[in-house]
Amino acid sequence: MGDLKAINWPIVVGCEQLTEGCDSCPSFKNAVEHKGIQGHIFEHGYQPYILQDQFSLPYSLKKQKIFHVALGSDIFHESITGDQLKLIFTVMNENKNHIFIVTSKRAERMHTATRRFKLKWSDNIVAAVSVESWDYKWRMDYLRQIECKHKSLSLVPLLGPMGILNLNGFESVCVEPETWENARPFSETWAVEIEKQCQEQKVEYYFNSNPDIWEDN
Ligand code: SF4
Repeated sequence: MGDLKAINWPIVVGCEQLTEGCDSCPSFKNAVEHKGIQGHIFEHGYQPYILQDQFSLPYSLKKQKIFHVALGSDIFHESITGDQLKLIFTVMNENKNHIFIVTSKRAERMHTATRRFKLKWSDNIVAAVSVESWDYKWRMDYLRQIECKHKSLSLVPLLGPMGILNLNGFESVCVEPETWENARPFSETWAVEIEKQCQEQKVEYYFNSNPDIWEDN
């Protein structure tokens, strides 16, 4: 991906807290603080919705960009319809000059929606599942079943040791501790164990100790 810094493509804003990894979600906090403020993207709270005017953004940028798709949200939330997902994928498929990183905790819907709506994961899309602890490693199995060239594991935020990781099918792993207000404990040992397994399984390893906070979508 070179030296390009990924930017947010806020095609969907809002989400819904799902599991422990969501307990400190900066986007949720942002929504709570701004609910009721006229004109703010979270005026009506955290319920997910499509930002229609964002569909044209990738077409309008001629220089290559790396987009986080709906950072602080999740395009595979159940309220995003099949037709809306198809439109989002069409934009990504048609903008091969850009790279799109799609991350989700909703791995099961990612899998079923891909099949049901015939979503095409073109080679300019990185599909990532977010796994915060050992208990949710099953999300990786859903991603493994999706036909997609670039698969990534997002251990963000990492909340505990991951134990043995089967990284078959994945090309990269990203680890991030919580660094924001009320951050939960993090042990370097967890990261070291993951890095070692990445080396053994020849998978790229990234550690981000200074993440962007999703203040504004
Ligand atoms: S954006 Fe991510 S962390 Fe925040 S509530 Fe949604 S799934 Fe959870």
